[in-house]
Amino acid sequence: MFTEEIKGKEVIDKDGNAIGIVKDLMITRIGRVTHLVLTPAGLIEKIKGKEYLIEFQYVGAIEDVVMLTETNEEIDEEKKELERGKKTKEKSSEQTEREYKCPECEKTFSTEKGLHIHQGEVHK
Ligand SMILES: [Zn+2]
Repeated sequence: MFTEEIKGKEVIDKDGNAIGIVKDLMITRIGRVTHLVLTPAGLIEKIKGKEYLIEFQYVGAIEDVVMLTETNEEIDEEKKELERGKKTKEKSSEQTEREYKCPECEKTFSTEKGLHIHQGEVHK
C-alpha cells in the first residue's frame, strides 16, 4: 500500500533540487524500509543508468513528491564516509585474522615473534 504509493514519485532534496524518481524500495524481512532506490534525475543525472540508494532516514515528508531532510551533497558525503569506515574496518579485521600457528602444538599467535618465543621456550 505505502510502498506502491511512493513508487514513481519525484525525490527533492533539502535545497529543492530534484535528484531522482523512486524506482523501488529496499525492505527488510520484517517490513522495515531501509532505502529508496532512485532512478537518477536532475543533479545526479550524470550517473544515469545506475540506481541510486538513499537511506530512508533522510526521508522527511511524503506528499506529491518525496522531500529529503538533507541536501544531496550531505547525503553523498555521509555515504563516502561510510565507505571509508568500512574499508578501514575490513583492513583491521584482516590483520587480526592473521595468525601464526605452532606446528608442534597448534597453539596460535598473533605475531611471528610471539610464535618464535613460544617455540624457543616450550619446544626447545
Ligand atoms: Zn607449540
